[in-house]
Amino acid sequence: MALGEFDLIRSFFDRPGLRSSLSDVVGIGDDCALLSLQPGQQLAQSLDTLVEGIHFPKHCDPYLLGYRALAVNLSDLAAMGAKPHSFTLGLTMPESNDVWLQSFSDGLAELASIHQIGLIGGDTTRGPLTLSIQVQGTLPEANALRRNGAQVGDLIYVSGCLGDAAGALPDVLRGQNPGSVRTLEQRHLLERYYRPTPRIALGQWLLENGATAALDISDGLLGDLGHILKASQVGAEIKTTSVPVSKALGSLMGPEKSRELALTGGDDYELCFTWPDRKKLLLPDSLMTDNPVTCIGRITSASGLVDAETAQPLSPRAYQHF
Ligand code: ADP
Ligand code: MG
Repeated sequence: MALGEFDLIRSFFDRPGLRSSLSDVVGIGDDCALLSLQPGQQLAQSLDTLVEGIHFPKHCDPYLLGYRALAVNLSDLAAMGAKPHSFTLGLTMPESNDVWLQSFSDGLAELASIHQIGLIGGDTTRGPLTLSIQVQGTLPEANALRRNGAQVGDLIYVSGCLGDAAGALPDVLRGQNPGSVRTLEQRHLLERYYRPTPRIALGQWLLENGATAALDISDGLLGDLGHILKASQVGAEIKTTSVPVSKALGSLMGPEKSRELALTGGDDYELCFTWPDRKKLLLPDSLMTDNPVTCIGRITSASGLVDAETAQPLSPRAYQHF
């Protein structure tokens, strides 16, 4: 039997694994959530909405959906160098289905536990399946990894490998998930699509150690890097052959197609950041193992984005064959 609204919230959202462990937080159950900031801290907030049929396919596995919805929001905190604090959930669904809700909230709880953040409030309504998650994080006052700090001469880095999530899209649209596909390579790409890694520890380290600008790559490297260039009023040259591509993507798509996906495909939620050339980037081993980073180019004074090897302009469109 489906639960009523308040029992539903209690069973699936005000539960161990999702409850905030912070003693100074008032979570689910009152009209507002309450959270305290320590002196010298600022609050970072970000909201993302995912609509069924637009941002994820119909009949999507609810566990993977919960995980991914929180991951893409945490990625925005990572991109600013913020420490995750808590999140709220706006859930609109056509009907209350306990099996679906259990699985969805388990997916949320898996990632929430990893980053030790609590679900502190939200809203539940009836309508087409839509998920809005707002995350809160903390930052030292007047300090954040912004998009507008890149300087001429800075080196440009990305974390992880790019293009995997875009490579998974045809399978995602066919309703496949990591458990349903035949090859290890397909499984790897689907894992990257459904379970992107928010680069939280890396973001905080970059802020503390002097990265000049950063963002997370949600719409494709070339387009997103363009946001840094515009905000910082600089240009860049990229060595396209240095952009890291996974073995799985390379072997499924071949070198040319995988490079195109790495440059223009979205949904990877890796970080792209700039780093002063005079300072060697030395990530501690503990970070580098889980968050490999690769230098892919340099910030220039000329406007626009060019291929470092051919000096030709690089635009997201030039690389999109369709
Ligand atoms: P109100 O009517 O005062 O807006 P609601 O009845 O919508 O409050 O919600 C009751 C409590 O449950 C509130 O604390 C609210 O933040 C929380 N809540 C409602 N829906 C969700 C949800 N999907 N996830 C987490 N908390 C929720
Ligand atoms: Mg309400």
